[in-house]
Amino acid sequence: MKILSPLLFLFFFSIIAKAQHFKVLGTAGYRIIEENKTAFPKFYQLFHQLLDQEPLLKQVIFINKKTGGPGFANPNGTITLNLDYFIRKKPRFDDNRWLVVLYHEVGHLHYFDETPRPRRNPEDSERAAFEYSLQKTKEMAMNNDCLPLKSGLQNMLLRSQSNETTDPHVRALKRMVNEPLYAEYVAFQKANCK
Ligand SMILES: [Zn+2]
Repeated sequence: MKILSPLLFLFFFSIIAKAQHFKVLGTAGYRIIEENKTAFPKFYQLFHQLLDQEPLLKQVIFINKKTGGPGFANPNGTITLNLDYFIRKKPRFDDNRWLVVLYHEVGHLHYFDETPRPRRNPEDSERAAFEYSLQKTKEMAMNNDCLPLKSGLQNMLLRSQSNETTDPHVRALKRMVNEPLYAEYVAFQKANCK
């Protein structure tokens, strides 16, 4: 054990150092969000609305990483945003999709808040996050903006077809897209969105 502890320390230190490498200072992160105000207006508006009004959101951390997803949520109330998705513009990652991501991450915070730690599992957490994004983007559709809901439904269906079943997002979606709740959102979109 005495030999192991320094090794373990080095191991964890290297992980922390690796993570730090991608970290962007908060002020620089907010500046990049500010610079993307016109390119991502819906994201920008929701981002500030959440900072002002979402009590479960305690902190935003920015990273700039060419691999990995656009956002992550942590049970301590932190949401991490990957600025690479703003800096190197991706054609398939527009304002509507970013908005869905932001709601998805807030959905995770609600799941963490409502579910005691022993009952949490990654697949249910993803499911709750996807459901929250659908619920919130449906509210937007009821206020005449159907595009985020459309983007969310499309990307969820697409991702459900992935073979990466080690990914809890994929596992949650494979179940969800075959269930009545998802069908209800699709039916709502068909009836109310052009
Ligand atoms: Zn998620």
